[in-house]
Amino acid sequence: MKNLDFKEAALMIQKSNYTVALTGAGMSTESGIPDFRSKGGLWRKHDPTTLASIESLTHHYPLFHQFYKERFLSLRDCQPHQGHYILAKWEKEGLLQSVITQNIDGLHHKAGNKNVYELHGNLNCIFCQKCRKEDTIESFFQKAPCPSCGGLLRPGVILFGEGLPEEAWEGAVYEIKKAKLLLVIGTSLLVSPVNQLPLLMGQKDKKILINHDPTPLNHLFNIIFKERAGEVLGRIQETLMEE
Ligand code: NAD
Repeated sequence: MKNLDFKEAALMIQKSNYTVALTGAGMSTESGIPDFRSKGGLWRKHDPTTLASIESLTHHYPLFHQFYKERFLSLRDCQPHQGHYILAKWEKEGLLQSVITQNIDGLHHKAGNKNVYELHGNLNCIFCQKCRKEDTIESFFQKAPCPSCGGLLRPGVILFGEGLPEEAWEGAVYEIKKAKLLLVIGTSLLVSPVNQLPLLMGQKDKKILINHDPTPLNHLFNIIFKERAGEVLGRIQETLMEE
């Protein structure tokens, strides 16, 4: 990692009057949650189009239920890492205005970020597929039917075959258009429409990418860090404190 890049990144953060972070599964791997597409990623083991889909919810509920119960149990004890806490600190200090995330693990909220747009929903919200009434994770675990209408309980994540939550998406677009600096962290930028967000910014607006693997949009970024997200954010924070 080049020291100069950290200095430049820290300077961009200090100078920007509106900074937004866009995060993906790679933001959470250091919390012990596998991403989808890396080696050892979740989708190498499960086929998402079969399991995490409306088709699976409505026609293969036992399998759908088992997949999400296991997913919930594997995420339950995961904690934010230093990178999450740094983003929360920056928001508190006015250096970061919002986080747009594809993650469903709720770790940005857990770390203390308040202005978070969860584009793929949140695993911890349970509701009825039929009447949309909210319920508890315990009822979901028991495979209980919705007490109001008898419908199937499901987690509040966006499934294959569903659109993004309108409010979160509109909020994210608003934030991106306002941003003067975008920090893209831990996403392959392969999932649409989220990967269109960096394209909505002006050419003069600054963009920093923190991602192990190359993305199709690497050419857009002013600085690219290929190291671990938590480590890079930690080094930028150290540099900010030196300034
Ligand atoms: P992805 O798996 O396609 O890409 C993750 C990227 O992060 C990869 O390019 C990888 O090189 C990089 N990466 C992994 N660990 C890293 C680290 N420590 N530091 C820096 N880079 C790292 O994930 P995506 O782009 O977010 O794909 C979107 C889908 O993944 C979404 O649907 C999202 O809901 C889902 N997902 C979420 C979680 C979660 O909530 N934690 C976990 C798995 C998948």
